[in-house]
Amino acid sequence: MSQNLYAHFASRFQDVEDKLLLVTNTGESYSFADIDQRAAQIADVLVAGGVRPGDRVSVQVEKSPMALCLYFACLRTGAVYQPLNLGYRRAEIEYFISNAEPKLVVCDSGSEDEMRAIALAAGTELVLTLNSDDSGSLIEAADSKVGDFGVLPREAGDLAALLYSSGTTGVPKGIMLTHGNLLANGETLVDAWGFTANDRLLHALPIFHVHGLFVAVSCVMLSGASMRWLPSYDAKQVVQHLPECTVFMGVPTYYTRLLSEPSFSVDRCASMRLFVSGSAPLLEETFHSFEKRTGHRILERYGMTETNMNSSNPLGGERRAGTVGLPLPGIEIRIVNDEGEQVESHETGHLQVKGPNVFAGYWRMPEKTADDFTTDGFFNTGDLGKIDADGYVSIVGRNKDLVITGGLNVYPKEIELFIDELTGVKESAVIGVPHVDFGEAVVAVVVPTEVGSTTEGDIIAACREGLAAYKTPKRVVFLDELPRNTMAKVQKNVLRETFAQLLS
Ligand code: ATP
Ligand code: MG
Repeated sequence: MSQNLYAHFASRFQDVEDKLLLVTNTGESYSFADIDQRAAQIADVLVAGGVRPGDRVSVQVEKSPMALCLYFACLRTGAVYQPLNLGYRRAEIEYFISNAEPKLVVCDSGSEDEMRAIALAAGTELVLTLNSDDSGSLIEAADSKVGDFGVLPREAGDLAALLYSSGTTGVPKGIMLTHGNLLANGETLVDAWGFTANDRLLHALPIFHVHGLFVAVSCVMLSGASMRWLPSYDAKQVVQHLPECTVFMGVPTYYTRLLSEPSFSVDRCASMRLFVSGSAPLLEETFHSFEKRTGHRILERYGMTETNMNSSNPLGGERRAGTVGLPLPGIEIRIVNDEGEQVESHETGHLQVKGPNVFAGYWRMPEKTADDFTTDGFFNTGDLGKIDADGYVSIVGRNKDLVITGGLNVYPKEIELFIDELTGVKESAVIGVPHVDFGEAVVAVVVPTEVGSTTEGDIIAACREGLAAYKTPKRVVFLDELPRNTMAKVQKNVLRETFAQLLS
């Protein structure tokens, strides 16, 4: 069978083409046959526009069923789908488009003129539009097509998508994902999380990122399941639609917002069998509050754009708060020290992975790609982690977040976990700021539960009691909230910039 991911999606609906696949929050419904037909018509438009296998198609559009069809159309034609975060502004888009050199750019009508100028500067002539109400030149062109485009055969190593990392630690990198990567990971997740044709996923995530685009969509498509589709996350709408669903996936903030929603109750979860969290660390407190409120233990998993999902807490076994579970079947995870030697269990080090999920390399960055792989084929994730005696993996932070103060390594996560437990603290982020004596000094950025609920003196005193002196923050600063990107990741680079002069 062809290794085209879409061919595998379609095969799961072979005898049930009329099965309902997607229902929007406003009640529009699409069977698999409807989506398949629209994707075929869009595929016809792409090919008529000169898009050939391997050509990039850059897309910055609102989340909509037709945007999903556009992704499917790219898979079918062998084009490389490049979704762009809706939050990106001109300078950022210029970088992505000039870097990807797409054959076609799709955007909404409102940004067409600006996008056309950016595209032309990168040598791209074809720009089409797609709006969330299904208007736009892409759909007009698709309407006139018969829609008999099939699915081009692809090899496992052929590119399916070019996704850019979130840019948490620097300039986002183009990450080449193959049909084989996406298929292998999708099938692994269907098994690990017990997806069947009876499932209905509540899809509230954006579709420009691995979580909503691959994890969520592949689980549904590869199990012949269905989804309730929200245009964006809205806690009230999630509460409203949960009773028709069996699975929900979200970033940690989705869960904290659900818990703040008074109408969110155990009754609303009666049909639910699974809540999945990832993309950023889930606070243990959120895990426990959620269990208290609903009886459900959130299943936390760990992944990244380069690898899709690497580890997951078990569906059947114990889900341990504060861990990201066990390596997924077929995926090896190991922890090594600075010399690349594997460390004992419980010891912290660099987390490396190997498996069919691991990407084909950074786009047009052969040196960076070579640097990030070991000679025995492991990818160095840049995350710091540890594995306990039972094999559960914990993420301790990122290599780049490591604070080296007076020559000693400080793992911010350890201090954050300590501070988060103190009275009057909602959450915290620990960073290193330049310091004349120590090179870097530990600084804690703290969000108090309410104004004045704690003080710098209280926190430093508590740290002196409970932590080694070199780990104790030299300063504590307070913010109303931590800067986060759309995937709920704390932007430590922003904090480091803001407080760069604090101790100088
Ligand atoms: P960039 O590579 O551009 O700095 P990024 O690494 O944040 O950005 P993504 O690929 O979207 O971009 O995110 C992957 C990272 O998210 C992982 O390397 C890890 O640090 C973090 N992450 C994902 N899931 C979890 C989790 N469950 N717990 C802790 N961290 C997680
Ligand atoms: Mg990264």
